[in-house]
Amino acid sequence: MINSFQDPEVVKTLKDKITKISHELKENIKICHVCGTHEYTISHWGIRNLLPSNIEVIAGPGCPVCICPSKDIEHCIWLAKQGYILATFGDMARVPCEKGSLLSARAEGADIRVVYSFLDAMKLAKQNPERELVFFSIGFETTAPMVAIELINKSIPRNLSILSSHRLVPPAMELLLNAPEIPLHGFIAPGHVSAITGSKVYEPLSNKYKKSIVIAGFEPVDVLFGILSILYQIKEKNFKTENLYPRVVTREGNKTALEAIKIAYSVIDANWRGIGEVQKSGLEISEKFEEFNIRLKEKLPPVSSVEMPSGCRCAEVILGKIYPDECPLFNRKCTPENPVGPCMVGIEGTCAIHAKYGSNFPLV
Ligand code: SF4
Repeated sequence: MINSFQDPEVVKTLKDKITKISHELKENIKICHVCGTHEYTISHWGIRNLLPSNIEVIAGPGCPVCICPSKDIEHCIWLAKQGYILATFGDMARVPCEKGSLLSARAEGADIRVVYSFLDAMKLAKQNPERELVFFSIGFETTAPMVAIELINKSIPRNLSILSSHRLVPPAMELLLNAPEIPLHGFIAPGHVSAITGSKVYEPLSNKYKKSIVIAGFEPVDVLFGILSILYQIKEKNFKTENLYPRVVTREGNKTALEAIKIAYSVIDANWRGIGEVQKSGLEISEKFEEFNIRLKEKLPPVSSVEMPSGCRCAEVILGKIYPDECPLFNRKCTPENPVGPCMVGIEGTCAIHAKYGSNFPLV
């Protein structure tokens, strides 16, 4: 069923307006999004094919399993091999690191359980009172509140610990804005994350760096409207944060979720796989709830220093420096069925999305 956000007539109108303004601008414009679901929309609907050749939309670090440090995966494998039940999301279980993946550890006998939410992990802990469990908690601002609220409500079973690998999106956007090798004109900010953070979280970035940041939804009309709005801002030299997704996102965000994040976590400098350390971009369980922090309960061993598998160019894909088909392993040695690197694993990985829908480039 076609809804109004997929209407071909509206798409054509937006495409024509983008083409017109791109001719007026007469310069190459690079726009970055930081959300796997936006990459899905762009690739699935062939949006790059609709754009004039001087308008490029690149995928930034918007896939939470792709940027999850190999160190944390290795530690989870180690914990599972010590006898813990290790619960995590399905995509995370397949992400490879130097020591294999959580699923390969399961094949060797480790007790790895795939869950759909933290509530499932809590249920699992209650069903197994004689066992110790660890929940490998990953994701951006969208998933962090789930654990936070249960910590605050004191509803987490005593036999359940957490390994937090949550990351915050705005610090990674700022890192990109400071990278001269990736000259960006603007961002399409992630709709889901923004539903939690609110649009105001981006205002300091658009003001400081004089860049356009538009929050867009996930339909083709949303994304094209986002691109058009960035082009208008560039034309008018009026760089600001604009919320184009008011049906979901407010300026203030989800105050309950934000308050829970503030209480339950401490903001730390954190490693992003393929990027390195990003200041104030990670969420660690706060001291108040330290009895649930597995990093404090167990002496975790040193890990391999190999961040990416040999030949994998995810580090460049994650930063939008190359497209997946520029990696020599793409769709040869590395496929969605047998991923070599993290970007080929999940539904939000740029390589996995391009393997399914192709790398679409401007035809005009
Ligand atoms: Fe890494 Fe595979 Fe993507 Fe190449 S195609 S960058 S090996 S995930």
